[in-house]
Amino acid sequence: MNYSRFIGKNAELFKASEIRELLKVVEARKVISFAGGYPDPQTLPREALAKIAYEVILNQGDKALQYAPTKGVTVFRETLLKFLRDVGVKVAGEDDIIVTTGSQQGLDLISRTIIDPGDYIVTENPTYLAALTAFRTARPNIVGIPVDERGMRTEVLEDKLRELRSQGKRVKFVYTVPVAHNPTGITMSLERKKHLIELASQFDFIVFEDDPYSFFVFDEADVTKLKTLDSEGRVVYMGTLSKILSPGLRLGWALGPRQLIDVFERAKQSMDLNTTTLSQFIAKEAIERGVVAETIERAKRVYRVKRDTMVESLSENMVENSWWVKPVGGLFIMVWLPEQVDTKAMLQEAANEGVVYVPGESFFVDGSGKNTMRLNFSYPKVEEIRTGVEIIGRIVKRKIRGG
Ligand SMILES: *Cc1c(COP(=O)(O)O)cnc(C)c1O
Repeated sequence: MNYSRFIGKNAELFKASEIRELLKVVEARKVISFAGGYPDPQTLPREALAKIAYEVILNQGDKALQYAPTKGVTVFRETLLKFLRDVGVKVAGEDDIIVTTGSQQGLDLISRTIIDPGDYIVTENPTYLAALTAFRTARPNIVGIPVDERGMRTEVLEDKLRELRSQGKRVKFVYTVPVAHNPTGITMSLERKKHLIELASQFDFIVFEDDPYSFFVFDEADVTKLKTLDSEGRVVYMGTLSKILSPGLRLGWALGPRQLIDVFERAKQSMDLNTTTLSQFIAKEAIERGVVAETIERAKRVYRVKRDTMVESLSENMVENSWWVKPVGGLFIMVWLPEQVDTKAMLQEAANEGVVYVPGESFFVDGSGKNTMRLNFSYPKVEEIRTGVEIIGRIVKRKIRGG
């Protein structure tokens, strides 16, 4: 039976990506995958979490197995706020925090409660695909600002803001991943961050700072939060325990001005009443017993080696006029190949030869980036990184020769 007549128009907003379908098929085979975004399983603190989960259910089950307030379990929110203050996030007096089901829910909340159809919003170009997908369901005009090795080019943003203003249009918010950006791996310089905050004030917009990665940078890097530079209450700081504890607990947060967090709270109530209570109790203990701190140290050790291997392999195997930035953290590197290389067209061939990646185009807001690919280095093994990059290098050379 065909069910189309039962499916609402809104379902069209959530269309399946052909790339994702292809990757699903080939990843079931034994190919090297640079396509995912999973943490390395060896960073997941299985024993510590098993012990905590057992104790939490046994000793605090009355609360841990119950419903919780929509904003989150109060003791967990307190622990989280202390954790965030300790890593240099400025929490202002008028701020509040809401626990979300991964930061993904925070992105969905933005699209449900902040964006009106036709609003102008700004992201890096390229940007985090899951944010784009969430925002697009609210039908905004998305303005993509190009990046270089110091992150979002805020001088281009300034020009764009002026241009829009002269047309009587205003930008409602900027969404940014300032540290170890997904998909590019690029980190925004302090100068640019300050400029962005100045522009927010001058052009009256707010900023959503999505920061899953600053907790575990592998090199010296400035990880000053936009939230900390902000003195006008224009930044909402969004984060997640997915990369520093476990994505399976599905715990994220949004920290910002109470009026905005209250709006999120009301929308979240109708979505899921509250984020999993049990996860919040487990995470509270994991933070307090130092399990998150240990996971962070392990992640840094494991990922630094993998990052180095990938960057080295890229230098050895990529053709001239390729470009990438050595990331100080995160899970990804984006490679810009010479213009004539079409990474989407090349994917099936790469899969046949034993490696997959995500063609970069879908991360770009304007259909550009056909010559880019996103490579994940956290999940594959070190030897796989070497072999996989070699294979990609060979195929790209063949393409450039016209093969
Ligand atoms: C991994 C990642 C997240 C995490 O999403 P969760 O829903 O918390 O698992 C958020 N933003 C970016 C940019 C990411 O790369």
